[in-house]
Amino acid sequence: MTQSPPKHGLQTRIVHPQDDLTPGFESFSVPVARASTVVFPDLATMRALDWRNDAQWRYGLHATPTQIVLAQRLAALEGGHHALLQPSGLSSISNVFFGFAKSGDDVLIPDNVYSPTRDHGDWLARDFGVTARYYDPMIGARIAELIQPNTRLIWLEAPGSVTMEVSDIPAITAVARARNIVTAIDNTWSAGIAFRPFEHGVDVSVQALTKYQSGGADVLMGATITAEPAMHHKLKLARMRMGIGVSSDDCSLILRSLPSLQVRFQQHDRTALALARWLKTRPEIAAVLHPALPDCPGHAIYERDFSGAGGLFSVVFDERYSAAQIDTFCESLELFAIGWSWGGSASLVMPYDIASMRSASDWPYRGTLVRFYMGLEEEADLRADLERCLVALAG
Ligand SMILES: *Cc1c(COP(=O)(O)O)cnc(C)c1O
Repeated sequence: MTQSPPKHGLQTRIVHPQDDLTPGFESFSVPVARASTVVFPDLATMRALDWRNDAQWRYGLHATPTQIVLAQRLAALEGGHHALLQPSGLSSISNVFFGFAKSGDDVLIPDNVYSPTRDHGDWLARDFGVTARYYDPMIGARIAELIQPNTRLIWLEAPGSVTMEVSDIPAITAVARARNIVTAIDNTWSAGIAFRPFEHGVDVSVQALTKYQSGGADVLMGATITAEPAMHHKLKLARMRMGIGVSSDDCSLILRSLPSLQVRFQQHDRTALALARWLKTRPEIAAVLHPALPDCPGHAIYERDFSGAGGLFSVVFDERYSAAQIDTFCESLELFAIGWSWGGSASLVMPYDIASMRSASDWPYRGTLVRFYMGLEEEADLRADLERCLVALAG
């Protein structure tokens, strides 16, 4: 068989390959589409692009097919219609603040919020002319009393990912809707599985995909999920202007973990609930802050609005133990690592000084709060590890 000689030289043929299509190849995995340049068939196509249209490819920073598949699956999981990906959960949070709040606006943030969100709010207030005010997470419909004519955004996080207090989200979103105020929830704790934000009147849901969606403790990413095109477009424009994008390789790692998200979440939930109940029986513990247990503020709201809990909860130690003793307890645990960012397979532990983290509401406990993330280890092994260190603490 004779082939006509190639039209171009070798280097040109490497740059413009003709043989990279794989028609008929199907699998369960989503191909990793890496791109900065997106190629247009002609100038008319390029000129007709509309940034609002998610079905058009413009530039690798804005979206690739891999990224869009992940975004669509996340939106479907959460019960929304649109999703945007950011390179970390905190970057998603920032995308929401910059998408909706401008100089002169007022934002309301719960007092138990994820600490970097509080820092973000304080930064907006200090340097960007936004007022950031903090509210008691148990405020419910009384949030109406805090609203000013310039209140633009109400932030929500329920349960708070350290104190676990569960806000009355529908009560707050009803007040916000009546006044045309945007509401955004950090829904990371529930993984988008155990709480359905759009059924409770929320406009924007934020997920730190770094946590359960990754599941591997090895990827950083975040998402903003919305149900209304107008909300999506506000966020999309801010995201473009800030130059925010993610890597398709990272998306592919999260796509790989997504099918097991629910079973992992349920397994974490079983272990965590069993150990929370057991910790409640221990004399060293003053309170168990697990939303499914009655000690937790907002327990009744949790029972009404949530369908599961995952692996994250906190305990408050009896105040007879000093902060230094609790540090020793945490460091003595063999199966619980000291580190940020839960959602992986391994259990974690972290002590917090809550009083120093709040400004708008009282914290009723004097003892040290310790947050546990119950991983995928055997429950009996985790319990034995905890028991050994509790006995040593009491000893
Ligand atoms: C971890 C976390 C974030 C931020 O996610 P990163 O990807 O680490 O930036 C936001 N909110 C909550 C509740 C988190 O636990």
